[in-house]
Amino acid sequence: MTGRPFSDERLLVATHNPGKVREFQRLLAPTGLVLDGMDGLPEPDETGITFLDNARLKAQAAVALTGRPALADDSGLEVPGLDGAPGVLSARWAGPDRDFRVAMQRVHDELAERFGSFEAADRRCAFRAVLVLAWPDGHEEVADGTLEGTVVWPPRGAHGFGYDPMVQPLRDERTCAELQPDAKAAISHRGRAVRALIARIGLSASA
Ligand code: IMP
Repeated sequence: MTGRPFSDERLLVATHNPGKVREFQRLLAPTGLVLDGMDGLPEPDETGITFLDNARLKAQAAVALTGRPALADDSGLEVPGLDGAPGVLSARWAGPDRDFRVAMQRVHDELAERFGSFEAADRRCAFRAVLVLAWPDGHEEVADGTLEGTVVWPPRGAHGFGYDPMVQPLRDERTCAELQPDAKAAISHRGRAVRALIARIGLSASA
């Protein structure tokens, strides 16, 4: 353990994204922590220009609203062939209806336009997640994780959320949406970040 120990029995998770809540529940289940969501509490605008900025902003807003320690993540898909887009704008590319078919189509179309065709494009991509656990006294612990992969078209699979159907992890023939949730958790950006955080704050992952 290299960070501040976390000894509460409950943890506030500062996200309104049901896909992320499900993944946090699965990833943190071995610690025995009871997770509380943000139902009914307002969401801050994600005005940061990095994942760390936005994760910090969400964690600190939740601490300010509740007076409790709070865990937030900011995450997204980076495509080097699109200069790192959508990046921190990953959720916004899905539009007001949060329709990720629209967002995935845009990734496909922008790659095809930039490289002449989708097949000719630099289709490398990475999911990144940054976690911030913030305390009311201002202390915070930070952890991050990456999943590297390739963008595929058409999207495939029914698990997961967001861009999962178009992201095929390196050394796998299935997309993230074709992986069972446990298999995704073992290699995902969020899984890696949560395991790093658990180690930093002294929680046991085998309780
Ligand atoms: P935010 O962190 O709430 O700003 O949203 C990040 C966005 O990135 C999500 O809404 C998804 O579109 C995308 N994203 C982050 N993690 C994943 C993942 O594990 N699978 C698919 N999409 C993801």
